[in-house]
Amino acid sequence: MRKLKRLSVLAVIALLSIILLAACGSSSDKESGNVLETIKDRDKIIFGVKYDTRLFGLKDPASGEVEGFDIDIAKQIAKEIVSDETKVEFVEVTSKTRIPLLNKGDIDAIIATMTISEERKKEVDFSDVYFEAGQSLLVKNGSPIESIDDLTKDTTVLAVKGSTSTDNIREAAPDAQVLEFENYQEAFTALKSGQGDTLTTDNSILLGMASEDDSFGLVGGTFTDEPYGIAVKKGQKELVDAINDALTTIKDNGKYDEIYNEWIKTE
Ligand code: GLU
Repeated sequence: MRKLKRLSVLAVIALLSIILLAACGSSSDKESGNVLETIKDRDKIIFGVKYDTRLFGLKDPASGEVEGFDIDIAKQIAKEIVSDETKVEFVEVTSKTRIPLLNKGDIDAIIATMTISEERKKEVDFSDVYFEAGQSLLVKNGSPIESIDDLTKDTTVLAVKGSTSTDNIREAAPDAQVLEFENYQEAFTALKSGQGDTLTTDNSILLGMASEDDSFGLVGGTFTDEPYGIAVKKGQKELVDAINDALTTIKDNGKYDEIYNEWIKTE
């Protein structure tokens, strides 16, 4: 009888060990796993995109659809990788949340007006450049600010947390006050309500704001280079290669130009 008891205790311990090992195995699989294979098994790519950035990623509240240059490029990448442009899911990111969401595994890749920078390369890997922007200033028409040289200690510059724009402006105009917001919608609302003298980010994003309200315009040209890349978790070479191949294909077959002309050229 005692022997039987001991045997069943041993059996329970063995069973628990198996369950524990299986659990450890699956979580480490997720961490070290091949994201491209996960995408293919799932038959869908999950992209982190902006929901508040006109021309690149903007959610239309009426239809619930997200639209823009980044969105259309993402669909074409889905077409190349999982053979169907509808096999794509969009998750909202902001400049501040995009890298944490990627590294947590909530999204497979970021396509969200994101500049390739040496600093960011420590945390994520990037595709080839798919869009060239540059940082600029947006002001209300008639503003005395005509370029970066007009920013003084009395100027309040609005910017978005987690963007390269905040670091760049502190370097380019060290005396100016910088007020940071969670996203571009909030920053533009603040500019309209007079909380700042100018809003700074990429010319591409500012053009979208100016097209929404023509009492605002860009001034002074660009003062940085902001090459956009698609970010993936570090070490996912197969996924980076697949994305780069997709970019090459859509540049060769004219799809890229079609999308560029639809969103950018006319602006
Ligand atoms: N391209 C810049 C960046 O990656 C500004 C746009 C943005 O905040 O997404 O930070």
